[in-house]
Amino acid sequence: MQPSFQSKLPDAGTTIFTVMSSLAAKYDAVNLGQGFPDFAMSEELISLVNAAMQNNYNQYTHMYGYPLLRDMLAEKIKLLYETSIDPETQITITPGGTYAIYTALTATLQPGDEVIMFEPAYDCYLPTIKLNGAVPVLIGLQFPDYSINWDEVRNRVNAKTKMIILNSPHNPTGAVLNEEDIIRLKELVKDTDIIILSDEVYEHVIFDDKKHLSMLRYPELLSRSFICFSFGKVYHCTGWKTGYCISAPQLMNEFRKVHQFNAFTTHTPTQVALAHYLKKPEHYMTLNAFLQEKRDFFSDLMKETKFKALPSFGSYFQIYDYRLISNEPDHEFAKRLTREYGVATIPVSAFYQSGEDHKVIRFCFAKKEETLKKAVEKLMQL
Ligand code: GLN
Repeated sequence: MQPSFQSKLPDAGTTIFTVMSSLAAKYDAVNLGQGFPDFAMSEELISLVNAAMQNNYNQYTHMYGYPLLRDMLAEKIKLLYETSIDPETQITITPGGTYAIYTALTATLQPGDEVIMFEPAYDCYLPTIKLNGAVPVLIGLQFPDYSINWDEVRNRVNAKTKMIILNSPHNPTGAVLNEEDIIRLKELVKDTDIIILSDEVYEHVIFDDKKHLSMLRYPELLSRSFICFSFGKVYHCTGWKTGYCISAPQLMNEFRKVHQFNAFTTHTPTQVALAHYLKKPEHYMTLNAFLQEKRDFFSDLMKETKFKALPSFGSYFQIYDYRLISNEPDHEFAKRLTREYGVATIPVSAFYQSGEDHKVIRFCFAKKEETLKKAVEKLMQL
């Protein structure tokens, strides 16, 4: 007999990233959907992992993460954000950014707590809130620049508000927080117990001389934040599933209570390699320019098509309006594009709980020039 049980996520299907990647594989389409680079990662970093394995770094490392890697991250943060972070109490290395987000939410949310999040939203926030019995409070970013309406946020805050989730540079839109956003955020959380979850996995993918306004820059925000990062996005190795979380000591203490009973620790040889690789800041300092070139290359080519670009100031992504081509719902359009024209993308309505559809789709431009060219040649037929 099958046991009967109640699903904890009755509404969850398969993520749109997997759906579109499977469709891309089925129709042999150019995959500009799921966000991962198709260009080679650093040979040097691969050799360092190899060396770490050869040198017997194959057992569990420290539960918080390989100590030298945490030291190197603290140095990097000092250099970039002029903030002192204690590697012993404030940094934990995790199996990916999504895991860091899950752990932060699970460590702090109680049933009934309200969590403010903005839509379109990266797909892991909402299910994680629900798994913890907390209540998502959804606020739409303002179309078409996807800015935050802080007056609306203020109106939605109440005694049950436990957390605000921020994501800059933003997936899927490429929007970024500006100084005014930070001022409003500071005002909003001052004298409250609100925790900030800041998803900053695209920290080094920000364009046009904009500055990444990390929560790490502001002591009064850092003291109430979990800030989540990804090595995969920075070093073109998303399959390594390695990231980290930075927080205030008291919050990090709770984070580690959950982490130690879940993954407990993170893949050792990768961490040893990254610790050495991080000694050269040029390895991450060059990423903005490298990906901006890709965004510009792609958007120049796209000018020859009927797609209309919405601005992208960061992340791997740019979204495009397809209303000159079709009136179809974006899910259908994206699927047909994959099937009939051989280019996979992500429909942006997938990032809304209500399926709100502005007739825009997301393209990942973190690809080789030849891949982007091949895709645009196909899109020109529309
Ligand atoms: N972050 C990637 C994206 O936005 C997807 C990761 C995943 O497939 N879960 O495309």
